[in-house]
Amino acid sequence: MNIGFDLDKIFINYPPFMPDIIIDKLYKKKDNGILIYRIPNKPEQFIRKMSHFTWLRPPIKKNVNFLKSISKKKNKLYLISSRFGFLEKQTQKITKKHGLDEIFDEMFFNFKNDQPHLFKNAVIKKLKLDMYIDDDLSLLKHVANENKKTKFFWLTNSKENKSKTKNIITISDLSQIFSE
Ligand SMILES: [Mg+2]
Repeated sequence: MNIGFDLDKIFINYPPFMPDIIIDKLYKKKDNGILIYRIPNKPEQFIRKMSHFTWLRPPIKKNVNFLKSISKKKNKLYLISSRFGFLEKQTQKITKKHGLDEIFDEMFFNFKNDQPHLFKNAVIKKLKLDMYIDDDLSLLKHVANENKKTKFFWLTNSKENKSKTKNIITISDLSQIFSE
């Protein structure tokens, strides 16, 4: 199977003292239901870079270990991250530090600063993914609509919200991708 994974909040956590909602707000804005991601301006990029020191971005060990346990003979594993170009150095450093560069068959990054949902959609199509896992529901809704044959998984801690889209399955643990 061809399986794609997002990076942030799947394998790398947000800084421990910063509420997720602030980080999500910094990146995303919603105008009339149309998904638009903002590319931060220079001063913001500086702050964002500071928040990307590797010691502020702990790995999600449980998920990294699960990734290592997936059979490489039966599956091709891809990392698809929409991190922008200003984070290129930090991103290369952290993927190397946690050995992600050796686990994945290939890694795709949005260093050319396309809109994240368009970037991911193009990669998902190109790789003809069977499954794709992300924590961003609005992004998933977009790609799920464009790739009807792909099974999408929304990894979330949220107990109340469940995906209502047909080919998006809500999971609370990454290992559920093989049991759903
Ligand atoms: Mg993410």
